[in-house]
Amino acid sequence: MSSWGFDTQAVHTTQSMPASGRPTAQPLYDSAAFAYETAEELEQVFAGRRPGHVYSRISNPTVAAFEARIAALEEGRGAVALASGMAAVTAAVTALARSGDSVVFSRSLFGGTLLLARKVLPRYGVDSRFVDLENEEVLSASIDGTTRALFVESIGNPKLDVPRLDAVCSVASERGIPVIVDNTLATPVLLKPRAHGAALVVHSTTKYINGNGTSVGGAVVDTGVFDWSRHPDGDLVATTERAGGFGFLVHLRRRIVQNIGSFMAPIVAWTQLQGVPTLGLRVRRQCENALALARFLDRHRAVEAVHYPGLPSSRWYEAAAALLDGGFGGLLTLRLGSRDRAYTCLNALTLVSQLANLGDAKTLAIHPASTIYRDCSEEERRDAGVHDDLIRVSVGIETIEDIIQDFAQALGGLT
Ligand SMILES: *Cc1c(COP(=O)(O)O)cnc(C)c1O
Repeated sequence: MSSWGFDTQAVHTTQSMPASGRPTAQPLYDSAAFAYETAEELEQVFAGRRPGHVYSRISNPTVAAFEARIAALEEGRGAVALASGMAAVTAAVTALARSGDSVVFSRSLFGGTLLLARKVLPRYGVDSRFVDLENEEVLSASIDGTTRALFVESIGNPKLDVPRLDAVCSVASERGIPVIVDNTLATPVLLKPRAHGAALVVHSTTKYINGNGTSVGGAVVDTGVFDWSRHPDGDLVATTERAGGFGFLVHLRRRIVQNIGSFMAPIVAWTQLQGVPTLGLRVRRQCENALALARFLDRHRAVEAVHYPGLPSSRWYEAAAALLDGGFGGLLTLRLGSRDRAYTCLNALTLVSQLANLGDAKTLAIHPASTIYRDCSEEERRDAGVHDDLIRVSVGIETIEDIIQDFAQALGGLT
């Protein structure tokens, strides 16, 4: 009890922390800012001369716990968490390229990344180039003195193509260019891009890492492979000279994310953390379920084609078998011959939900051409493998017989 008035009590009375009996779950520090006893202390924390958090647009203890977990899973040097996967992609690219520079992108890209590269980066003078990763000569020829990064998805969404990552990274390394790998679909369970020479890994943590569909988030991991003091960006080199091996992460957090305002919120980090312990279990189960569903659909007479990198008939089966460890991912696509037939199948599904997410514990399906890729041109859709009769399925962790049964009944109306 104190002599404070009601309103002072309402503002200042805080819950005490237990002296012993420490929490075993990560507490949520949902606090915009952090107080220090002296002006000198706050000055030192601000200057980065002493560890601590200042303001939750820059860093936060709950978000830091999430960053540490993602960095550990990717065997990276460290990570910065962002408000979404797109914020992570944008931060990684804009940390490396400025007006007059170019970035080389794989032709097969997630819809948001494609639109960022095509419609947003050019507004700021960054030249986005698109290449077919399968041809190393073309890839090498697309890199010139202005190129600051090469961007690739470990499993293309939704084309489900798998690059020969070692070859791609070695072309980039010969030219002194860092490779950014979007590892959302493979997850660190199946692939650690660091082992293949990637400089940065980006994630939409909304997907498999969260796994429960409770919030949107992203992360950028510095794998520690690339020597940033050799990058042509003067700001980045100066920061690397000051911060050593953490130069890129400091540059990313303090130059880009802090000033754009795209950092992850503490409550989001907290909800995303709930998924991390079960990531391996879920992904391995999703891979098993996806393979079983792909085999079932492959034999079904109403289905014109099934794309799954784990089917030996896939063009990318060998590349996927060489790159991925322990499975081929939880995503597959099927073609049904026409948009009408695709809609009929989607509308008949009962267990499977129709929504624009993936990597959830639940099985999800969507018609990408009319949704995620609706703002793209015909040619862009073709590059991304988005046909008008294509359904993308994100296979969940349910009992496989129930998933197959739902597709069996939904396809039954087609024959
Ligand atoms: C979903 C997705 C993104 C974007 O992530 P958001 O969290 O939705 O912003 C980026 N890359 C890939 C491969 C994705 O699947």
